[in-house]
Amino acid sequence: MEERIKDTIMRIEAACNRSGRNPSEVTLIAVSKTKPLYMIEEAYNLGIRHFGENKVQELVRKHKDLEEIYGREIKWHQIGHLQRNKVRQVIDKAVLIHSVDSIRLGHMIEQEAAKKDIICDVLIQINIAKEDTKDGVSIDELVPLFMELIRLPHIRVRGLMTIAPFVTDPEKNREYFSKMRQLFIDIKTKNIDNGLTDIYFDPKSFNILSMGMTGDYEVAVEEGATMVRIGTGIFGEREYADAR
Ligand SMILES: *Cc1c(COP(=O)(O)O)cnc(C)c1O
Repeated sequence: MEERIKDTIMRIEAACNRSGRNPSEVTLIAVSKTKPLYMIEEAYNLGIRHFGENKVQELVRKHKDLEEIYGREIKWHQIGHLQRNKVRQVIDKAVLIHSVDSIRLGHMIEQEAAKKDIICDVLIQINIAKEDTKDGVSIDELVPLFMELIRLPHIRVRGLMTIAPFVTDPEKNREYFSKMRQLFIDIKTKNIDNGLTDIYFDPKSFNILSMGMTGDYEVAVEEGATMVRIGTGIFGEREYADAR
């Protein structure tokens, strides 16, 4: 695993150099779904602090098992689809929910975050390639959802996330990553009318673009990703075939 992590970090740095970016702008999230605790601890001991899970039960269990030893040093990310009835369990354990794609989910997060008196950091997931099999809002739905979410006082919209198509040639995803960055900038620089309604949005904290996985993260970084989510590239193959 040490070699894999070193190699990944090196490739992220090289992608930053090619695109004139500072490597400190990019956070590496090790996607540990299906992987045992000892592998997470091994990655931790090699310097990894951010871990991504796609299932709430698994995130909650691993959080519990590692909390006593590592406390808040491990940052858990909920990267997979989130059902409304699981919001309560995960909301105070994940540092970031990457996968908000409906206002109903937004309202549930608001309700549960209010009860716990916390502010929940979220990303809006976009189905950038309009794939039937993927969650996320369409480009047309993005701004309306964003405008609703920023009215909720216990939610802080931190940025955008996408899962690009599964491709063998990562260059094929460049157009999607580039489009994501454009949408991200459009929202960040949008003039939000703060007039009469209460708006809970600060463009300065809208600063996360989560995109890029094992097969395409270098292109994603070149196109502006600030978080990459890497599973097999760090932990090796998963036991099941449909893990994406
Ligand atoms: C599994 C998963 C990843 C990591 O996939 P790899 O191809 O193994 O790097 C990234 N993001 C999400 C949302 C995932 O579910």
